[in-house]
Amino acid sequence: MLPQTIFLYDGGWTKALYIPELIDYLKKKTGSHVERRSDCLSTFKKSPQDTLEKIVLKLCSIRIRNIVAQETDCKPLPGERAYEEKTLLDPTKRIPGILYEGFALQQFYFHLIPEEERKSDFLHIIFTNQMFATWDRNDRRYHARASIYSYPSLISTTGLVEAPAKPREYYLKRQMGVHPEILKEEFRESYLDYEDERLTEVTKGYVMQAFFFHMTGDPFCEDKRCRLFNAHWQEELIQAQLKTGSEFCTFHEDMLHKLKADC
Ligand SMILES: [Zn+2]
Repeated sequence: MLPQTIFLYDGGWTKALYIPELIDYLKKKTGSHVERRSDCLSTFKKSPQDTLEKIVLKLCSIRIRNIVAQETDCKPLPGERAYEEKTLLDPTKRIPGILYEGFALQQFYFHLIPEEERKSDFLHIIFTNQMFATWDRNDRRYHARASIYSYPSLISTTGLVEAPAKPREYYLKRQMGVHPEILKEEFRESYLDYEDERLTEVTKGYVMQAFFFHMTGDPFCEDKRCRLFNAHWQEELIQAQLKTGSEFCTFHEDMLHKLKADC
């Protein structure tokens, strides 16, 4: 069944993410009702149970301190508490280097969603500028992620910039000491940057991945020209989201029509 309502929680904290355009896009593509909501983390301002202190402690406890070790529920250090307090009050002060355990963060957001809306009638998509990572059992380390598809789904505006790798030549030239501004100019077409005017267009593919996950349990596609492609490289992200004329592969285009027709 199509979700009765898709909620977009506006916690991306970048002017480049234009929520009204995403709402129009999702409405058109899915036929669902779509609503904007304020940053999910601002809930502590309304709810007596979710006090600032409680949220601060939780966020401190799910930080990743070592990307090659799985540690959970660490005791917060004073500097960490101060950082979380400051950034809850002013989320634009967040810095990309702070990583959270992705599924713990996703569970934390789940509990901030109103209880009566925690059901399949509702698709909750949470935008955040927090960076998160998930543990990879094969190479035994955390990897930063742009999104996590679950209930709710999380999309990180910082992760979209930082998680998919930039071209190898970029890192090589950076190591050789080429000035960041020169690199930026040279590789502009190859990666997404902060406050990038292409961010909203790119994010359309990620909200559709969340939608497909909600409807079918599978958010991804193998086709590099489909918006559902799971990009590990920035160049793949640019290709899948900005350079294909048809948006989706034939299989997913057909599936989208069927999902809409059945509801
Ligand atoms: Zn596809």
